Amino acid sequence: MKFISTRGGGGKVSAQEAVVKGIAEDGGLFVPCEFPVVSVKEIESMADMDFHERASLILSKFFTDFSQETVLKMCESAYEKFNGEPVPTVKIDDETYVMELFHGPTLAFKDVALCILPYMLTESKRSLNESGKTLILVATSGDTGKASLEGFKNVEGTEIIVVYPSDGVSEMQKLQMQTAGGSNVHVIAIEGNFDDAQTAVKQIFNDKGTVKEFGKMGYQLSSANSINFGRLAPQISYYFSSYADLVASEEIHMGDKINFVVPTGNFGNVLAGYYAKKMGLPVNKFIVASNENNVLTEFFNTGHYDANRKFFKTMSPSMDILISSNLERLLFELLGREAELVKSFMNDLLVYGEYQIERELLRQGAEEFEAYCAGEDETAEAIDNFFDMFGYVLDPHTGVAVASYYNYVADTDDNTKTVIVATASPFKFPEDVLKCLTGKSESDAERAIKKFASYTGEDIPEEISGLFTLPKLHNIVIPKTLIKETIFDLLKRKA
Ligand SMILES: *Cc1c(COP(=O)(O)O)cnc(C)c1O
Repeated sequence: MKFISTRGGGGKVSAQEAVVKGIAEDGGLFVPCEFPVVSVKEIESMADMDFHERASLILSKFFTDFSQETVLKMCESAYEKFNGEPVPTVKIDDETYVMELFHGPTLAFKDVALCILPYMLTESKRSLNESGKTLILVATSGDTGKASLEGFKNVEGTEIIVVYPSDGVSEMQKLQMQTAGGSNVHVIAIEGNFDDAQTAVKQIFNDKGTVKEFGKMGYQLSSANSINFGRLAPQISYYFSSYADLVASEEIHMGDKINFVVPTGNFGNVLAGYYAKKMGLPVNKFIVASNENNVLTEFFNTGHYDANRKFFKTMSPSMDILISSNLERLLFELLGREAELVKSFMNDLLVYGEYQIERELLRQGAEEFEAYCAGEDETAEAIDNFFDMFGYVLDPHTGVAVASYYNYVADTDDNTKTVIVATASPFKFPEDVLKCLTGKSESDAERAIKKFASYTGEDIPEEISGLFTLPKLHNIVIPKTLIKETIFDLLKRKA
């Protein structure tokens, strides 16, 4: 399977090359030349498989240069790191299910991809005979940071640097990153928001001079952000997996179309769902759920993408994003794979912070998407109600998804069976979730966790309780203008 850039430059590359490079040379994102097909028979056969076998079936279709055995082994090693069933789908009522993507080592959905990405990367480098070191550079709004640090720590031939907004992540997320161990990990906090971090990192990737300087130091730059196709591919698997689970438990019949509600930020998770649909998964609607930073809601309803707006800090920080990088891949499909058009819209976005596509394109090409949003109060109410009605505790991101889904149902009366995609454990956001459930504030994270556990009757995950005794190893906070210098300093000290 070959890949091309959404902006038309650079020719075709293999999946291995796409993973190693991370981003195309012309600044575009790698997309498969065509979508491989998953047959009805294959989906049916997944019903009897473990998750790592399902993931392997999907990944093999893209990574055609690896042997099936190599892919299976990668998947096995990656998903061993999960607690029990890697991505269970839990029944809530006759129409509603929750797919839990938070049973990995950092309790967030990013683990599903970031546990396997290091294996893909090292196997790809081996297969391409590349012996140099890889520098993984990550901008994070919270969860990607810790999940990448966890996935890449002590992986030979890699150095990982994570950049996060100092005041833009939750206390638990910050603690997770500050305490990250491993001989090859570096963490930088910046004064600024996630878009500042992401823009700075993107500029480094796009600046040939900087990339050359890294090369002189022996490093090839790569990305663990969701723009890397290696992040997307494993995410496609869980849409199939959840569907197969519902077929196996006779909640649906093979071929029935279902909805997925996806808490969305950078558009990586829901794009993977869309790719799954293109490959043959029966899906009715993807409900793209946003918090107050509802750029995507406006885009899907009007065709106007407008990042020139107030930035809100919400209790779902991983969705506090105004520039959704992976939307570029959807745009590529909507625009009939016309790279020149994509390039010009992306240029508009860079220069003016906005672009406008014809609404008709969305009606024709993106009919499977419905975009809804929920404010902080609606989200808090949804979390409280969901616990009252079903005894199920949502984290704030999944809370946004449920509240948006309620808004969607109120609008459409759609009673199609629906899977809510749950992206984080509520234990990562104990202060906020406790407040939603009890109305009471507790600003100390450790105390909030204990109160939260006793109120909900849930056990505190070890990944959380262990954090408070670990030393804080990474404490630098820098102005956003010094990101590049700081990265070079860290690497020089390492040399
Ligand atoms: C990253 C993240 C999201 C957003 O996912 P995208 O792929 O960026 O759209 C939502 N919820 C949580 C908990 C996350 O970590």
